[in-house]
Amino acid sequence: MKRIFRTILFLFMLGAGTCTFASVGQSDSLLKRWQAIKDTAHDTVKIELLRELGRQIKYSNPDSAIQFLSIALDLAEKNNLQNEKAHVISRMGGAKYVKGEYDFALEYFLEALSIWEEIDNKKGIAIGLNNIGLIQNMQEKTGKAIHNHLQSIELCKENKDTLLWAINVHNLGIAYNTAGSYDTALIYADSSIKLYRSIGRPLEAVIVYNLKGEIFINKGEYDKAIENNLSIINHPDYNNKWEICYALANLAEAEKHLGHHEKSIEYAMRSFKLALEIGAKWDIQKVTGILAEVYSLLKNWEEAYRFLAIHKAYSDSIFNEEKEKEINYLQLQRKHEENELLAAENQLHEQRIERKNVVIYGVISGVLLLSLIVFVLYRNNFLKTRLNRELKKTSETIADKNRKLTELNATKDRLFRIISHDLKGPVSNIVSFTDLLKENYIEFDKQTIKDIILSMNKTSKEGLRLLDNLLDWVRSQTGALALHCAHINLMELTMEVIELLITAASAKNIKFDHSIPENLHVYADKNMTAAILRNLISNAIKYTPEGGNIKLEAWPDASSSKVEIAVSDNGIGIKKENLKTIFDLDEQRTTPGTNNEKGTGLGLIICKEFVEKQGGTIWVESEEGKGSKFTFTLPHGSAQYTESY
Ligand code: ADP
Repeated sequence: MKRIFRTILFLFMLGAGTCTFASVGQSDSLLKRWQAIKDTAHDTVKIELLRELGRQIKYSNPDSAIQFLSIALDLAEKNNLQNEKAHVISRMGGAKYVKGEYDFALEYFLEALSIWEEIDNKKGIAIGLNNIGLIQNMQEKTGKAIHNHLQSIELCKENKDTLLWAINVHNLGIAYNTAGSYDTALIYADSSIKLYRSIGRPLEAVIVYNLKGEIFINKGEYDKAIENNLSIINHPDYNNKWEICYALANLAEAEKHLGHHEKSIEYAMRSFKLALEIGAKWDIQKVTGILAEVYSLLKNWEEAYRFLAIHKAYSDSIFNEEKEKEINYLQLQRKHEENELLAAENQLHEQRIERKNVVIYGVISGVLLLSLIVFVLYRNNFLKTRLNRELKKTSETIADKNRKLTELNATKDRLFRIISHDLKGPVSNIVSFTDLLKENYIEFDKQTIKDIILSMNKTSKEGLRLLDNLLDWVRSQTGALALHCAHINLMELTMEVIELLITAASAKNIKFDHSIPENLHVYADKNMTAAILRNLISNAIKYTPEGGNIKLEAWPDASSSKVEIAVSDNGIGIKKENLKTIFDLDEQRTTPGTNNEKGTGLGLIICKEFVEKQGGTIWVESEEGKGSKFTFTLPHGSAQYTESY
């Protein structure tokens, strides 16, 4: 291990002291004062006195210093005086440092620093950083030591603490010397001397000569080294045994290099005695090393071996590996504590974030839950509305089906009525006529027979018409009646129908009057259209008395692409109350014709059915006693496409 300088300890102790160089007399008087006040004074007064006592005697009697400082520590703890406590602990570290017990020293320094950090005492933190730098320098971790001293200097500037600033500059010189940067070390040494002097601390400046002496030894400039070290031991006001011990060791080293062995031994022995006196292990090991070397140079093997054994024993006790490990361990522990602190802070931070997250998640969950509820309610409402709509539709369908069923029922009833009554009538009549003829054929004259045959013919025709209507209507109801549309000449078709009915019209002396354009065409089913015309014309004949008139008209309606066809008569007309329901199946009632012609009550229903099937409409205008006009529409046809029939 390289030679390390420990003058720094003295320097760092200055940071908290008021009187740097205490004489034996001074410390004695402090001891007496302590004896006088120890049972009566206030704790703070006692602490202050003990701290000063510890500072003064630590170089001559570090063990006693530690004892007095321990009392001060108890008092500071009892009164919970944190800053005082840190100062006392720091000073105890200093006493341990003098003794060369660097591991304990570091432990105390770290503890003091952590208190200062806790109470955010900037002055204390600056002292602590300087002290840690000392130990790091002892471990030759000069980079770290320099860093801590520079940090301490920053705080000193902030605190306007020039003394500690000077101490740090001095210690930087030591660190650079340890690192082998001798010229830089000299610059720092001289700077610190200037700084000490600038604040009226000339005796502190003297200590720097120890460093300078050391630097010159390292540079091989032994005369300069001797000159600097002598200025310490010859100084009239300088009485620090520890520093003098160090200066003497340096002188011994320099003289050894110059070959002045006797002189070297003389300085070394003086240093050795002082080191033993104050129990400074580091100094003992240093100076015994020099002595062993000089004696070996003198070939005095016995003495050389004796001092080498002492040197070895002290070296081991200071620098053995265990100690190194311990020091490192303490540093690690500090790091660990720092980490724990950081981890605790981190945990707190995380807890805060977690709490925040819980709130955020809570709000998000609330919003989601609310959205879900709104969604479910909306969906329920939507489904309900849809269900209602479907229900309404279903009930409408049911109502429609009901209506159709009712209609079907009415159809069925009407059908039975027609078959059982209306159709039975003509057939029974014919049977009666034929019975009459069968039984009275011989007695009846020709005219009577002819009348009976004519009546039979008329009844058969009525029956046939009824059957035709019945069949047409049944076919239309069962869907068996398919549409076969074609372009039909309306006038031609009307004439055909009139021809079939002309006998009935002539029997009542009814005249036809038609104004249907010759070229007017409808696009319709011929059979259906003929059935419509047949029913309307035959009704007109039926409900028009003798000598009446029937008018047939048709005209195209340009606005609707339809043809309107009207059948009017000047017959008996229809009662107002019957007009509205005249096309309704269930309301259908029949009235006899003017010649008591029988009706079926199916004709108008068939007309309506057939007109609507072909896309048209039918309506009636009538006045009782004046006549009726039935009008219906059919799609307009074209002559171009007319089929011949
Ligand atoms: P029907 O003539 O066989 O009774 P319709 O369905 O053809 O059956 O007519 C129903 C009823 O409408 C008739 O019974 C009659 O009361 C009335 N009606 C129809 N056409 C006329 C008309 N031209 N003049 C007066 N009443 C009519």
